Amino acid sequence: MAWDFSTDPEFERQLEWMRGFVAEEIEPLDLVFRDPAAHVDPRSPAARAMAPLKEEVKKRGLWALHLGPELGGQGLGQLKLGLMNEILGRSRFAPTVFGTQAPDTGNAEILARFGTVEQKAKYLQPLLNGEIVSCYSMTEPQAGADPGEFTCKAHLDGDEWVIDGEKWFASHACIAEFLIVMVITDPDVPVHEGSTMLIVPHDTPGLEIVRNTAVGPKDEIGSGVHGYLRFTDCRVPEASRLGPVGEGFKVAQSRLGGGRIHHAMRTVGMLNKAMDYMTERVVSRTTKGERLADKQMVQEKIADSYTQILQFRLHVLYAAWLLDRDKTYTRPVRREISAIKAAMPGVLKDVVYRALHLHGSLGMSNETPLMDMWQYVPEMGIVDGPTEVHKIGVAKDILRDVAPSDGPFPTYHVPTRLAAAREKFAAHLD
Ligand SMILES: Cc1cc2nc3c(=O)[nH]c(=O)nc-3n(C[C@H](O)[C@H](O)[C@H](O)COP(=O)(O)OP(=O)(O)OC[C@H]3O[C@@H](n4cnc5c(N)ncnc54)[C@H](O)[C@@H]3O)c2cc1C
Repeated sequence: MAWDFSTDPEFERQLEWMRGFVAEEIEPLDLVFRDPAAHVDPRSPAARAMAPLKEEVKKRGLWALHLGPELGGQGLGQLKLGLMNEILGRSRFAPTVFGTQAPDTGNAEILARFGTVEQKAKYLQPLLNGEIVSCYSMTEPQAGADPGEFTCKAHLDGDEWVIDGEKWFASHACIAEFLIVMVITDPDVPVHEGSTMLIVPHDTPGLEIVRNTAVGPKDEIGSGVHGYLRFTDCRVPEASRLGPVGEGFKVAQSRLGGGRIHHAMRTVGMLNKAMDYMTERVVSRTTKGERLADKQMVQEKIADSYTQILQFRLHVLYAAWLLDRDKTYTRPVRREISAIKAAMPGVLKDVVYRALHLHGSLGMSNETPLMDMWQYVPEMGIVDGPTEVHKIGVAKDILRDVAPSDGPFPTYHVPTRLAAAREKFAAHLD
């Protein structure tokens, strides 16, 4: 009977150290380095500030714990990673300092799973060491949620792949050492049989960043870290293929689950932060002769937020536990990851909105981190696939095993069941 909600004391000590380290050493970076790429760009002044912090994390054996031992990492498993990510979710810089920054984590996962010995030496090891940054490029300008609409294609010419087409919202393309790009290699079959993954070094001729795109309206057009890419007769060696020809979709599936669950884990951290701000504010602010905290409509907001965060958190940890149990993205794991992915923007919207609202004008201002958090609400509904697509996946998975009832009435129709129940207990009925 192993339903245990406790953390073992030794790991709890690590978490306690992390809480202090993130709050005191990493969160101040968020205040000073405001550039959208500062947390990931190895050339940013923030990278220099982060270097000794990364060393500290490595010294404590907490670096890049996302890869499991079966993939050559020193992973602790998803459940422990979940508890860690809750802490890392409090700062934009913390995942980089701990070597668990997306999309590098997912890219490391597929390089470890599908990479050749040469690819691992050239890309995986420096990525795990935090020496380079990578990009994962799947979405196209005309299609994101439906890979069936992808048109960026590649064909073999001798021992080279020739890529032509466009990609969109390729995060960190402008700073990445290499890009993992999903291309159509057989347009005559469905995308899950006709796509392939290629590794494209950033300086490959024929790869052009048409422009960079930022999230939200604050940055100038052309700034930001999400690349609009064009490939024109862009050639990479056949040895750049990651995984088998025609199985790009399978490779993609094996990384996206991890990315989604890690986002959800970090979202728990952001929710806790919003809750901390909300609770401090309501016990500090007085109006009409009493604290905000003493007003019942405020208490309702605190109670609802607490319950939603806890429900979401337990669901995330349950998904992590399932992944540790099954070791791979089995059907039950995929269902729970999609369910938490779909729930994430809703919980964020409710909790961050209440926190903003209870701070009044201060909440609207640029003098608390709350408006930055607000931006994550729609982002979490889009990134790694829109909410609707995940809800469709959950519903289909649930309904797949449900048998229809015979005849016009359902199996739980009382008059029908009553007859059978009467017969069962006939001996006891007059
Ligand atoms: C911050 C951020 C970072 C990103 N980073 C990357 C990256 O590194 N690499 C990469 O390849 N992509 C990246 N993306 C792109 C992301 O994966 C896509 O935005 C996502 O898959 C949705 O595709 P789309 O934007 O084309 O939306 P669309 O496919 O146009 O969908 C728009 C809307 O249509 C509706 N919709 C779509 N499909 C359905 C459906 N089946 N049923 C009902 N409604 C539906 C939904 O409301 C959806 O939000 C990133 C996006 C963001 C916001």
